[in-house]
Amino acid sequence: MVNIAIVGGGPAGVMAAIVAAENSKQQVNITIFEKGQVLKTILCTGNGRCNLANNTKNFKELASNYPRGEKFLYSIFSQFDATKTIKWFTGHGLKLYTQKDNRVFPITDDAHTVRDFFIKLLNKYKIKIKENCHIEKIEKNTNKFKIHTHNEVLNFDKVVIAAGGNHKSQSVYNLAKNLGHNITRLKPSLFALSLSDSNISKIAGVSIESASIGTYFDNKKVYSTQGDFIYTHKGVSGPAIFKTTGACAFLDFNRENPLILKINFLKNKNFDSLNDEIIELVKDNPKKNIINLIRQFVPAGVADYLFEKNSLNPDKKAAELSKKERNRIINMLVKSEFSAVAPVFDSEIVTAGGIDLKQVSSKTMESKICSRLYFCGEMLDIDGFTGGFNLQACWSTGYVAGMNL
Ligand SMILES: Cc1cc2nc3c(=O)[nH]c(=O)nc-3n(C[C@H](O)[C@H](O)[C@H](O)COP(=O)(O)OP(=O)(O)OC[C@H]3O[C@@H](n4cnc5c(N)ncnc54)[C@H](O)[C@@H]3O)c2cc1C
Repeated sequence: MVNIAIVGGGPAGVMAAIVAAENSKQQVNITIFEKGQVLKTILCTGNGRCNLANNTKNFKELASNYPRGEKFLYSIFSQFDATKTIKWFTGHGLKLYTQKDNRVFPITDDAHTVRDFFIKLLNKYKIKIKENCHIEKIEKNTNKFKIHTHNEVLNFDKVVIAAGGNHKSQSVYNLAKNLGHNITRLKPSLFALSLSDSNISKIAGVSIESASIGTYFDNKKVYSTQGDFIYTHKGVSGPAIFKTTGACAFLDFNRENPLILKINFLKNKNFDSLNDEIIELVKDNPKKNIINLIRQFVPAGVADYLFEKNSLNPDKKAAELSKKERNRIINMLVKSEFSAVAPVFDSEIVTAGGIDLKQVSSKTMESKICSRLYFCGEMLDIDGFTGGFNLQACWSTGYVAGMNL
């Protein structure tokens, strides 16, 4: 009988436990130690719908959605990619569907279904669950691991640490540190941005589809992406912004040294193509107020806001527009600059940084410096963009750890 301890009953730990129970050739006795309640963290995912994967077929393309951990995940996804994940869930009885944007959800659109699905499997395989049980320390001697709870010390042959991420405190990582592992710098990832311009609140709630966003820091271009975003009371949020903050998680921007976002509201147009278009429009509508022509390109509120921000007269007749004014209008549509001065933590947040991947085998998820110890999930120096990529990493690393336990 092999005794296995899983520290952390989140998605990654639970996946590792079930896969180990299902595939082990030897008899296994598995215990999950969870300081709170098992799978509580999954209930708030995807706004309660649980966006549990991203149906990207090619595993290298899938891995490109991880600002940290991309290369490590090649080996993991070559063993258990999105297609295999979806097959695994449906094969075990959880019905899923894929949205147009590749995000995968349970057919019920309810994260409780995913939790109930896993609880059933944990019961089926007689995996022991110790809830409200905080693991304070793990020690290893030649043959056994000693797991310290608040009131007892228990012996195990193998241990999986799947205690999740926490950018605010190192304490969760101490379990791994005490066994000789390095923890890379920790930062939050995937957050909204506060902009320097307080007038932005005038357009709160307005969303922009398919913009291009170039991000600059210290006068250097650091990232570019395309996608939707939304104005908030403080600044900007939404998929394209989360991608940007995911990629720029380790840049220490602030009011004195902000991130500069250069936004092209019209993804498929550039200065020259828009110049031609506006010249034509002006020719055809000389008596119209210029603002009415520009409102064809962006939502009315945004057009009004941009005219005010750039001190342009919205009521000027199109025919009276000077070349200089036309150039300024075009620039504000294809290269509008905004200063992002602070993160806003009101959304899905994951931890960038964690267990140093150099010390973990990407073939087995076993520690390279402490045999029979495995890691999986957000604890690792792996984090993805929004879209189901973070849970995908949990299933895949959990699966590989489980198969090799
Ligand atoms: C609001 C929100 C929405 C999200 N939505 C999505 C989404 O839709 N799709 C997606 O892909 N990702 C989403 N994420 C990210 C995703 O939830 C995480 O990446 C994922 O939960 C990480 O799983 P994990 O098992 O590694 O860690 P966790 O889910 O954090 O689980 C770790 C568990 O370990 C326990 N633990 C910690 N220390 C100890 C200890 N010493 N002893 C015992 N137990 C311990 C914790 O209590 C916890 O239950 C979201 C995150 C947030 C915050």
